[in-house]
Amino acid sequence: MDPATLELLWLVSGIVVGSAIVVLIMLAARRGQQAAEVVNTAVPDGVDQVLDALESAGAVLDPSNTVVKASPGALAFGLVWNQALVHPVLIEMVDRVRRTGEPLAEEVQLSRGPMGDAILYLWVRVARLGSRYVMLIAEDRTESYRLDDVRKDFVANISHELKTPIGAVSLLAEALASASDEPEQVRRFAKRLTVEADRLARITQELIQLSRLQAADALTMPTLVDIDAVVSIAIDQNRVAADSHGIQLAVGKKSHAEVYGDEALLVVALHNLIANAIQYSPDSSRIGIGVTESDGIIEIAVTDQGVGIADEERDRVFERFYRSDPARSRNTGGSGLGLAIVKHVAQNHGGDVRVWSQPGNGSTFTIRLPEASPATAASLGVQQ
Ligand code: ADP
Repeated sequence: MDPATLELLWLVSGIVVGSAIVVLIMLAARRGQQAAEVVNTAVPDGVDQVLDALESAGAVLDPSNTVVKASPGALAFGLVWNQALVHPVLIEMVDRVRRTGEPLAEEVQLSRGPMGDAILYLWVRVARLGSRYVMLIAEDRTESYRLDDVRKDFVANISHELKTPIGAVSLLAEALASASDEPEQVRRFAKRLTVEADRLARITQELIQLSRLQAADALTMPTLVDIDAVVSIAIDQNRVAADSHGIQLAVGKKSHAEVYGDEALLVVALHNLIANAIQYSPDSSRIGIGVTESDGIIEIAVTDQGVGIADEERDRVFERFYRSDPARSRNTGGSGLGLAIVKHVAQNHGGDVRVWSQPGNGSTFTIRLPEASPATAASLGVQQ
């Protein structure tokens, strides 16, 4: 090869290598730029703080539906797991917003809990956040749905409870009118009218008591209450009913216990427990009423030897209108509100009510209240 050809060859290979290096540098630069774009998933300024401050659940999703930010609520509700939305219905909402560009607001029901048996009611809003992201905000409406259900149930139950005695009153009035010439029949119908009128009066009175108790979280004017006095008034109120069934009401020795609260309400609560003990006990049995104190808690227990309550019903008996045996309870004139009232009275006094029962052997209902002390006075807002 002559020197001129060799020089040309060097020149050409120099150009080729040089261009290759330039191309490589340009490629590298372009890749670097792309990498920066991928890494730069920074969500717009301020979104972090907004999510942290949100009481509702919130999440920001990137174009691949990866959750790049989530509020603590979103994790607590179980909406986000492993940087993804858990529920397909929410993913579908996000996709729809991305497709249409329009914000969405919908009510969504999600199953939750280990068995998927708890329902979460959410009000979900989804909107675009800048050009890349979508933001989802979910507000928990479960409690307001639950309260709405309780309210509807309550109204339905009241109507049902009132329908029976009202129906009976109008039938008896008709019967009275057509039996006006037969004094014996008139007396019989009049007696039954009184029974139904009494039942109506009791239901209305219990409803008023219950709604007052539920409306107030705390007692209006708590005073020092002598528990022995509460016990003796409640027993006196039930004496006639107990005697008519040959049931003995046995009271323990005086406790000298005192609590802060409302004497009339405590009498109502204990009255209800003793009245139930009488209703659900066989004739000639014995009911014990005792007061004990330990560790600053006063316990008022009513023990009967009655029918008892099945395991699965024990917690439910404190619900409004709950009866384990509606037919029996209706015959005895019960409204199903008695124990709900007891529960609320105990709660308003800073205490609770518990039940022990064995079907066939009897039950013990115990009202537990904090003993009167400067601390309970302060917590119940007693005026000193
Ligand atoms: P009711 O007016 O029907 O007695 P309560 O709220 O007082 O309503 O009681 C609810 C249900 O709890 C009753 O229907 C009854 O089934 C059960 N119960 C309450 N007290 C007793 C008891 N001492 N022994 C057995 N069952 C009871």
